[in-house]
Amino acid sequence: MTATAAPTSAPFRFFDVRVARTRRLGPSMVRITFTGERLAELASGGRDQRFKLFLPQPHQSAPVFEDTGDGWYATWRAQDPAERPVMRSYTIREQRPHLGEFDVDFALHGADDPASAAGGPASRWALAARPGDRLTVLAPAVADNGGVDFRPPPGTDWILLTGDETALPAIAGNLAWLSPGTVAKVWIEIGHEDDRRALPSFADVEVTWLVREHAGPGRGEPVLDALRAAGLPEGTPYAWIAGEAGTVKAVRRHLVRERGFDRRAVKFTGYWRRGATEEDLIAELTAAATAAAATGEE
Ligand SMILES: Cc1cc2nc3c(=O)[nH]c(=O)nc-3n(C[C@H](O)[C@H](O)[C@H](O)COP(=O)(O)OP(=O)(O)OC[C@H]3O[C@@H](n4cnc5c(N)ncnc54)[C@H](O)[C@@H]3O)c2cc1C
Repeated sequence: MTATAAPTSAPFRFFDVRVARTRRLGPSMVRITFTGERLAELASGGRDQRFKLFLPQPHQSAPVFEDTGDGWYATWRAQDPAERPVMRSYTIREQRPHLGEFDVDFALHGADDPASAAGGPASRWALAARPGDRLTVLAPAVADNGGVDFRPPPGTDWILLTGDETALPAIAGNLAWLSPGTVAKVWIEIGHEDDRRALPSFADVEVTWLVREHAGPGRGEPVLDALRAAGLPEGTPYAWIAGEAGTVKAVRRHLVRERGFDRRAVKFTGYWRRGATEEDLIAELTAAATAAAATGEE
């Protein structure tokens, strides 16, 4: 799901942060603004800048974690799972270096049904977050870093973006970065009408919102169905696809096989997978890397 099980630290660095304020953006999203001592040294590359956050366990007031530099991943894995911080991937929605702040928009999956055990540690943490709550983040110290995936190559005529609530912060960052005159077609799946958001951009943007609450059971795949029915612009496209892993795979297949997109011009990332926690996904990646190493593959 994430690009690697153990992201290299450089040019990423650990920062201790605390919640400055929270703001509910809609039924399914909350914006959390973080602040911290050394945040002037954090350098987001904008667009879909990914980073890792480390959450305290419910019985802890701050993450229990030792920054061992490049060896941090082994140190983290060796900790007791009941004590080590919960690691999750998120997007820096916006950074304000002059104020020493950055925002993260959290999708509150499972929040529709407070009686259910659904959701996950990160979603539950975000729902309950209060000013002063403490976290650790592994975030870039250099703006030009490998945690930015949205990189349309020269010669791109138009941009296609698809995603769900989890990808909305990255889509907002991607659109804000585009130059005037760029054509961008966007399909976004959201839970509720009130999850719609303004997506400021200098580009020539057309957004199609696909609202789950309007669709009944057996609704199929809203993004895929809408894309299948859509007429697409002429010229050389660059596609960026994120969200639920199964949907991402299906959309990529549609673009490459049925629409003739060059597979090198389709950047796709599963941001989560139905029925799997991020620990499950890391375990899969680690097992695959171990198996590849054993057979001498790259
Ligand atoms: C590079 C990258 C950037 C990301 N950026 C953001 C971001 O900015 N904002 C954001 O909200 N998310 C973002 N995500 C997705 C987020 O990391 C996952 O949704 C993560 O699983 C949430 O952790 P959790 O502890 O709440 O749930 P987990 O413990 O990981 O999962 C618990 C259960 O919830 C399910 N689940 C997880 N996410 C969802 C969901 N969105 N809807 C329904 N069910 C879900 C899982 O399938 C599992 O069954 C990003 C992911 C990646 C890889």
